[in-house]
Amino acid sequence: MRASLSALTELSLSEVRDRLARKEFSARELTECYIAALQAARPLNAFITETPERALAMAEAADRRRARGEARPLDGIPIAVKDLFCTKGVLTTAGSRILDGFEPPYESTVTEKLWQAGAVMLGKANLDEFAMGSSNATSYYGPVENPWRRRSESKAGDNRPLVPGGSSGGSAAAVAAHAALAATGTDTGGSIRQPASYCGIIGLKPTYGRCSRWGVVAYASSLDHPGPITRTVRDAAIMLRSMAGHDPKDSTSAPLPVPDYERALTGDIRGVRVGIPCEYRAPGMPDDIEALWQRGVEWLRQAGAVPVEIRLPHTKYALAAYYIIAPAEASSNLARYDGVRFGQRVEGGGVDEMYEQTRAAGFGAEVRRRVLIGTYVLSAGYYDAYYLKAQRVRTLVARDFTAAFEEVDAILAPTAPSAAFAIGENSGDPIAMYLNDAFTVPANLAGLPAISVPAGLSADGLPLGLQIIGRAFDEETVLRVGQVLETAAQFHHRPAFVAGET
Ligand code: GLN
Repeated sequence: MRASLSALTELSLSEVRDRLARKEFSARELTECYIAALQAARPLNAFITETPERALAMAEAADRRRARGEARPLDGIPIAVKDLFCTKGVLTTAGSRILDGFEPPYESTVTEKLWQAGAVMLGKANLDEFAMGSSNATSYYGPVENPWRRRSESKAGDNRPLVPGGSSGGSAAAVAAHAALAATGTDTGGSIRQPASYCGIIGLKPTYGRCSRWGVVAYASSLDHPGPITRTVRDAAIMLRSMAGHDPKDSTSAPLPVPDYERALTGDIRGVRVGIPCEYRAPGMPDDIEALWQRGVEWLRQAGAVPVEIRLPHTKYALAAYYIIAPAEASSNLARYDGVRFGQRVEGGGVDEMYEQTRAAGFGAEVRRRVLIGTYVLSAGYYDAYYLKAQRVRTLVARDFTAAFEEVDAILAPTAPSAAFAIGENSGDPIAMYLNDAFTVPANLAGLPAISVPAGLSADGLPLGLQIIGRAFDEETVLRVGQVLETAAQFHHRPAFVAGET
């Protein structure tokens, strides 16, 4: 059993899809392997809820469809769902105590599409509380451990467990540890790409409006982007096709047809102009990230792309603007958790006291900090000074990209200014934590598609990602260039922990 378990969980989503089609094994057999892998991976704390019975029932239904010749695009593919997506009748916590016990009476559009496509739900993946964080350490359900470890000889033998990144930390850890074939994530300021970079896998943030936000617990509505986390670029293309599409229930959803993203993976990037923005250099950024970035430029050049130096002058203000706009929207979105409609309630003398007690008991420290900042920057007297100014900066950041995309077809930059750090490191210093997002937030402010691809190892032996940012709704170029990068990087390193291996 053990040998066959790791054999099946070694395969990529596209390989599994093709072998299921050839009936080399059944969806049920595959799902049993993934359930065993999920259980073996429990020390990582990647899941808040496991749904093995549901998974088996979904797998059997997929097998029955295949037997009738009615197979669907993702039939029998076992995936993890970030616990920010509402799943009908299945506990949905958003990583918060305040939603403990909440079983939504509805299904998010993205997960509904995935189930319609035949995917199998293994469980709900751990995350930072309300997706606020870069380490998965703010979850009420405990931190997630990165399956990677530093080389034992590095940093004076510091081999503490590492964060998987955040906020989609459980999704990324599960996919990297082969405890799920793919996962859903959401990216408000980097939460798909940064954990993908820290865990050595692929994370794709599509264009704003490409994937419906309906039924996804809101953090910052104008910045939230659902998207896939996978082990290969092809797998991300396959997942996105089933997740994307117009949804009348989300007024910001784009009424555009969904291309067959796999067909964009031609491997041919000759003549593609790739912008290299000198602004994506953080003070103190390790040399290995700079070196990897230069290697990335060379790889793309060798494949026939044309590197072009570009300027994105307002990038340096993006992080500050983000940490005003995101908390502002969060403070408004989180007002609904008042103990009346969802999840936890702590009784008080009157209704006001009940609100106060519920929110004080239900929200963790980081969420409280964001609600306080958000309420402050939206308050009369400070609105113009902070919120309005941040919105203006957002426009300038977006305009930088518009100007750059007149000259180039894609942009190459590092995903994050560091590799994974230890659990507990940075946790007392919110600013240090926020600085982690410097390279990811600009694409959120502008709503542009971006993918993180594992490209090499740090001096400590940890994965580092490079990101490709594209024009709005041009996920195809992002995926095509991303796959060329993936092929050139030949990233076949394995994490210290892979489910089913001892
Ligand atoms: N780390 C960022 C934040 O805390 C981004 C989180 C996210 O993308 N959900 O806001």
